[in-house]
Amino acid sequence: MIRLQKLKDDELLGHIQNISASERKIYADIIEALEEIERRKLYLARGYSSLFSFCTEFLKYSEGAAQRRIASMRLVKILPPAEKSIVKTKIEAGSINLTHLSKVSQALRTMPKTLKAPEKMKLIESLENTTKDECERKLIEAGAKPVFKREDLRPINSEEYRLSINLDTESLQALQEYIALTAHQNPWASKEKAVCMAIQSALELEKKKRTGEITSKAPEKSSSRAKLKEHNDSSKDFTAAVAAKPRRYICAKTKRKVWSRDKGVCQYVDPKTGRSCQSKHALQLDHIHEFAKGGGNEAINLRLLCAAHNRHRRSVIRRPKAH
Ligand SMILES: [Zn+2]
Repeated sequence: MIRLQKLKDDELLGHIQNISASERKIYADIIEALEEIERRKLYLARGYSSLFSFCTEFLKYSEGAAQRRIASMRLVKILPPAEKSIVKTKIEAGSINLTHLSKVSQALRTMPKTLKAPEKMKLIESLENTTKDECERKLIEAGAKPVFKREDLRPINSEEYRLSINLDTESLQALQEYIALTAHQNPWASKEKAVCMAIQSALELEKKKRTGEITSKAPEKSSSRAKLKEHNDSSKDFTAAVAAKPRRYICAKTKRKVWSRDKGVCQYVDPKTGRSCQSKHALQLDHIHEFAKGGGNEAINLRLLCAAHNRHRRSVIRRPKAH
């Protein structure tokens, strides 16, 4: 281990140059490794519902650092191998960094989808050795729309947060209509109070849908089911009608039981590490023993899975020899 205090000034400067070159090399290697992790969807197998949560929780990156690495990786991975190699060299040389790449990645979302790889490469190269401000200006000159932060959430004190969001005209009108309709509960017509009330109502509604207390089926389906019931009731072959009833139907009582038992979180557990996902994102009911292979609709055969892990499970069932 080098004792820094004993190095001469030039030696210390040489030392920090060497380790910062190693750091840049590592950035390029990390982007490459993340691309392979994403290709294998390894974060799902290890119990993370997204690559972002894998980066923040498993790799211990800050949210900003995770976002920059993932955005850079997703930009680089769409480039042909030769261009990919050039970008890697530029990262290692320090003329392009992860801020440049994540800004290009953001900017491309606002630019024509017809942009080809050489044009994207030209855009990346135009940002070499630029500061953050210069980089943003060049991207706008190249046709990108300014990207404003869509939302900002900051703590004010131990019990309150400040949330800034952008609203389109339609949403603002809906909020104003909601304030008018709930004026008896919100007499001061406060937008803040109305948003909090709307969030609570929407949450209650979604929970009731998940636990089967109310149905979220489309009206036309209910109506066709009603028509079918009417037809069946009048039919002599009532037994056949009962047999035709959708077998996938899970009653509200069972949904409530599963929801309550699984505490409203994803139950995926990585068999290797024992890590439990616990995500609350887009939860779905999963048949542990597949429905198509005779698995029943009883609570014991059901569990909550987040959408990502439900998809992962289906892909593993289809492709049992995956990593
Ligand atoms: Zn999950």
